[in-house]
Amino acid sequence: MIRLSPPKHSISDAIQLCTDGMSKKDLRDRIAQGSGIIRESAADYSVKAEVGELFKINPIGDDEESVVNSGISKREFVNLYEYYFRNANKPGREIYDALMLSANECCPFCGGLGRPKNLDHYLPKAHFPQFSILPLNLLPSCRDCNMDGKGEHYATVYHEQMIHPYLDKECFFQEQWVFAKVLPGAPCTLDFYVSTPEEWEANDKLRATQHFKDFDLSKRYSIQATNLITTVVHMRHTFMNGTTAEEFKEFLLSYSNPSFFINHWQVVASQALANSDWFCAEGHL
Ligand SMILES: [Zn+2]
Repeated sequence: MIRLSPPKHSISDAIQLCTDGMSKKDLRDRIAQGSGIIRESAADYSVKAEVGELFKINPIGDDEESVVNSGISKREFVNLYEYYFRNANKPGREIYDALMLSANECCPFCGGLGRPKNLDHYLPKAHFPQFSILPLNLLPSCRDCNMDGKGEHYATVYHEQMIHPYLDKECFFQEQWVFAKVLPGAPCTLDFYVSTPEEWEANDKLRATQHFKDFDLSKRYSIQATNLITTVVHMRHTFMNGTTAEEFKEFLLSYSNPSFFINHWQVVASQALANSDWFCAEGHL
């Protein structure tokens, strides 16, 4: 939903900072020996993510002690993240904090509805431990989006993949595909839905729909919009009392913060309210 600039730190930076904080010489040596393969995997990740093919990477089996590469086990890769990257007392934390800051307090998966609470692995470390400290695989996410809490699910086909904030196609970020319609009532509500541009590839249409569903955005946006509706109805009753439906429509179209992106729930909500003749004419009563 929200495009984030790719991380400034590379996989080499992550390996360096994590091993700087490591007292176990044996593990440090094995990581040094395997760093070439880890970097190759990272390069492959980047290439695949840009064309939406991360789902083609095979998951690692369940055995915690299975060797992922260069004598480094799955368990050790997971621990590398938990003890040497996320740990507030280790040098690797510098990258964790930089990635969190890069989101500018807006969770990229729900489009800023929530504030990022921690970093999540786009490809879960339980199945793809080789990417446990890859900055490109680490994304700030809010409590409600919390990908690590989604049962370590991973996509096996293109359209099941969540939109990748660092590397995915521009169309997901630049073109409008979230819309809403007013459901008249007292109070009225907004029904948010996906409507992708006609010219999109079928798989991208499915993917946007899947992302919207996976993060429960219709319900979450609708709940959030109730406050907005209450606010604008109150305005109509007070200092905008006496304005015509057309004037109120114009006001609603300009109501969103201009810095918001095209699929931001509030942009979409204002647009839907403005486009509702019922709301502009009678919905305030
Ligand atoms: Zn979120």
